Amino acid sequence: MVWQGTRLSTLAPRRTNRMFRVTQEIEFCYGHRLLNYEGKCRHLHGHNGKAVIVLEGNELDDRGMLIDFTDIKRKVRCWIEENLDHRMILCDQDPILPILKEQGEPLYIIPTNPTAETIAQLIYDQAKKQDLPVVEVTLWETSRSCATYSE
Ligand SMILES: [Zn+2]
Repeated sequence: MVWQGTRLSTLAPRRTNRMFRVTQEIEFCYGHRLLNYEGKCRHLHGHNGKAVIVLEGNELDDRGMLIDFTDIKRKVRCWIEENLDHRMILCDQDPILPILKEQGEPLYIIPTNPTAETIAQLIYDQAKKQDLPVVEVTLWETSRSCATYSE
């Protein structure tokens, strides 16, 4: 019996579950404080944080890439550097805002408490807005503590 090309290809295992995952870590420094909170984080303080951006997809482009690392850098890393790095990330209800604004302090104001969870979500939303196939963002607040956001 002669196997024909088409017959062979239909017998070949179909790779329907293939998935590519690309991860990039972005380190940045930020300050914040939490409202309605009794721990140390109720005072203004800073973190050497790290965002871990995870992208997924089952198709590669003609370069063999899910995404070019340079695109993640251009679309997310640059945004973080311009908007979050070395800034105070604060809730818009924080009563200290007028004083810091008057002093010309660099701020990034969000409508929620600036927890690791909400900062992870903020970065996720930015990656999505830039049409990246983001599936999750983890924000490491310290080397031992992180929060992850996905949809
Ligand atoms: Zn903190």
